[in-house]
Amino acid sequence: MTIEGQIADLIGTENIISRTNGKMDELTFNSYGVDRTKLYQANYDYLLFPRNTLDVSKIVKYAYDNNIAIVPSGGRTGYAGGAIAKDKEIVVSLSKMDKTIDFDPFLVSLTVEAGMITQNVHKVAEEHGYVFPVDFAATGSSHIGGNIATNAGGVRVVRYGLIRNWVLGMKVVVGNGEILEFNGNILKNNTGYDLKHLFMGSEGTLGIITEVTLKLTNIPRDTNVVLFATDDFSKILEVFKICSKSPLPLMAYEFLTDRCLDKVIHHLGVNNPFENRHPYYILVEFEIREEKDNEHLETLLNDIFAEELISDGSIAQNSTQKKTFWKYREGISESLSILHTVHKNDISLPLREMKSFIEAMESLLKEKYPGFEIALFGHVGDGNLHLNILKPSDMKDEDFFSSCKKVDPEMFSLIQKHGGSISAEHGIGLLKKDFLEFSRSPSEIEYMRQIKKVFDPKGIFNPGKVF
Ligand SMILES: Cc1cc2nc3c(=O)[nH]c(=O)nc-3n(C[C@H](O)[C@H](O)[C@H](O)COP(=O)(O)OP(=O)(O)OC[C@H]3O[C@@H](n4cnc5c(N)ncnc54)[C@H](O)[C@@H]3O)c2cc1C
Repeated sequence: MTIEGQIADLIGTENIISRTNGKMDELTFNSYGVDRTKLYQANYDYLLFPRNTLDVSKIVKYAYDNNIAIVPSGGRTGYAGGAIAKDKEIVVSLSKMDKTIDFDPFLVSLTVEAGMITQNVHKVAEEHGYVFPVDFAATGSSHIGGNIATNAGGVRVVRYGLIRNWVLGMKVVVGNGEILEFNGNILKNNTGYDLKHLFMGSEGTLGIITEVTLKLTNIPRDTNVVLFATDDFSKILEVFKICSKSPLPLMAYEFLTDRCLDKVIHHLGVNNPFENRHPYYILVEFEIREEKDNEHLETLLNDIFAEELISDGSIAQNSTQKKTFWKYREGISESLSILHTVHKNDISLPLREMKSFIEAMESLLKEKYPGFEIALFGHVGDGNLHLNILKPSDMKDEDFFSSCKKVDPEMFSLIQKHGGSISAEHGIGLLKKDFLEFSRSPSEIEYMRQIKKVFDPKGIFNPGKVF
C-alpha cells in the first residue's frame, strides 16, 4: 500500500492531502510547507490534518516505524524558518485541532487544543471575563501551539513576560508516538523536573504539542496610550527609566524610527501623528486602574517634559486614537514585507548595554551596508530590537542575501560582546542555526542534542532545525 493509503487508514482519507491527489491547489499546498521567512521553497508531498491527540500519536508512531521526518505546523507566521518542509518531510498541521476543552473558574485557566488561533484564545478568555495576555501583530493567524513552541513574546512582555509564564500544562506526542501529559490544572507541583518547559521554545524538535492549559488574568480596567517623539535613541532609554519608576503599571514600551513610520504611512495610508517628523517615536501604554492613576500620568508627563527628553507627545483621546497609535507600531512588519525584500534580525540586549550597542551597530551598518535603508523598531522596554535591512531596488535577491549572510556574524559577535542574544523571540529554526554558538556554548548545545535524543530517539521531528 502507498504511504497515502497507509496514513489514510490511520486518520481517514479526508485528513490527508497529497501533492498529487487534487484535493488542494498547488499554491495553497505549498503555503503549508513554508513560514514568513520567504527564504525557503516548500518541497514535500503529504499534508496531514489530525483531529485529536490520538490521531497525532498514530501519525508519529507510523513515522517512527518508517523513519519519516515530520514538520509540526502551526499558523506558519514564524520568522525563523522553523515550519519549513523542504526535504520531503510530512507536514502535520494542527489547524483542525482548534477546540476549547475546559475552563476552570477556580484556577482561572483555559485548556484548548494546540491548533487554536491565538486571537480565538483571546476571545474565549474574554467570554469568561478574563484575558490571555500574550499579544502581537500575528495573533490573527498564529496558533497557540506554535506560540508555545517558539516561546513567543510580543508587545506586553514588560508587563506579563513571555508565554512561558502563562502555560500551566500541556499534552505532547513524543518521537515514538507516546502521549505525555505535563502538569495541568494545578499551580503547585514540585515533583521533579518540569518537562513542559523544555517544549517551550523547542520549535517542533522534541514533539508535537496537542493540548495546552493556559493561565488567564484579569482584564485591565482601562489603559492609556501615549506617543512621544524624540531626537536621540538614548532618550528613549531615559524615558523608560522614568516610566518604570512611576506607580502606573507599564503595559507596553515600544519604539520605531522615522523610516518605519514612513513605511506605515505609505502602506496603510494613516496620517502623520505630529506636525513635524522626528528621528524616533516611543509608544507607551499604561494601565489606568483608578482615577488617581490619571494624576500619576500627569506627573509622569511633566517629569519627562521637564527633563527635555521629548520633542513632541500626544495622549490618545479615545479608543479609535489608541488603535491608530498602535497601528504605527503594529503595521511595521506588514508594511516592510509588502514594500520591500527584507533581511530581518530579531535580537535582544541588556538595556544597560543598549546605548553602546546601538552606537557600535550603527557604525557597522554604515560600513557594511552603505546606502542601504535600515528600519529599526522593537519591544525596546524588554531589550528587544527588530533590525531590518531593506534590499536596494537595483540589487538581485541572491546578492542581497549573500551579503547579509556575510555581515551577520559580525553583528552577532557584537551582540555577544554586549551580553545579548541573537534571537530574542523568533527562535533559531533554519535561519540562525549556523550562528547558535554566538548565544549558546558548545557544551550547552551538546546537552540540547542529548535532550532531543531522549524525546525523539530517531530524530524525526524537524531534523536540521535549531542545531
Ligand atoms: C507580523 C508579525 C509580527 C510578529 N510579531 C511577533 C512578536 O511580537 N513576538 C513574537 O514572539 N513573534 C512574533 N512573530 C513571529 C511569529 O508570529 C511567532 O513566532 C509565533 O509564535 C509563531 O506561531 P505559529 O503558529 O505561526 O508557528 P509556526 O510558524 O507554524 O511554527 C513555528 C515553530 O513551531 C513549531 N510548531 C508549530 N506548532 C507546533 C506544535 N503544535 N507543536 C510543536 N511544534 C510546533 C514549528 O515546527 C516551527 O518550528 C511575528 C510574526 C509576524 C508575521
